Amino acid sequence: DPAAARALNIVAIQCRGDGGVSVVPGLEDSQYHSDGQLTKREIRAVTLAALGPRPGELLWDVGGGSGSIGIEWMRAHRACRAVAIERDPVRAGRIESNARRLGVPGLSIVVGAAPAALDGLEAPDAVFVGGGFTAPGVFERCWAALRPGGRLVVNAVTVESERLVAELHATHGGELTRLSVNRAEPVGGFLGWRPMLPVTQWVVRK
Ligand code: SAH
Repeated sequence: DPAAARALNIVAIQCRGDGGVSVVPGLEDSQYHSDGQLTKREIRAVTLAALGPRPGELLWDVGGGSGSIGIEWMRAHRACRAVAIERDPVRAGRIESNARRLGVPGLSIVVGAAPAALDGLEAPDAVFVGGGFTAPGVFERCWAALRPGGRLVVNAVTVESERLVAELHATHGGELTRLSVNRAEPVGGFLGWRPMLPVTQWVVRK
């Protein structure tokens, strides 16, 4: 049927077109409006892989920043749910607009500081901590709420949060990984490797 064949062809062309946004985590940083508080794409892709979204699961994105982790979690499957917890109201507003623009307007946002802001939230299947990890009680509250079998992923950038992560790794196990990314950038007329802040990632299953 030529009409059907033509329709299929149009669909194929649209699928191949460059108008859309990738379905795989690790979207370009430029997809997000941010004030610089953004998990960069290389680290983000690894982080989403560690979080491992399954259909229907709920993520807590603690220290939401620009919202990229919660947004890419929700983009993994239409049944995935996420709540971003962010203490800065301007950033919380940006999370909302990023989520809308990237096709996941259902992302929940709690404006407030963890751990208090976590009170009353539905128990998560996975928790990501991208900010506020050294605030007293944040780990304990997240770990207590996490469903059995759930995953906790912490990206530590500061000496203080890295130290806490190492201590908790000693008692709770899991995997510690040091991620460092260098991007080639112009240096004079040449290219030089610009190092980004290294991230210590702790992944632990409850
Ligand atoms: N993963 C984010 C970037 C996180 S930046 C992204 O890709 O967009 C860390 C964020 O944690 C900052 O926006 C900071 O305001 C927030 N934060 C720090 N301590 C917090 C706390 N106790 N509760 C909630 N948010 C916190």
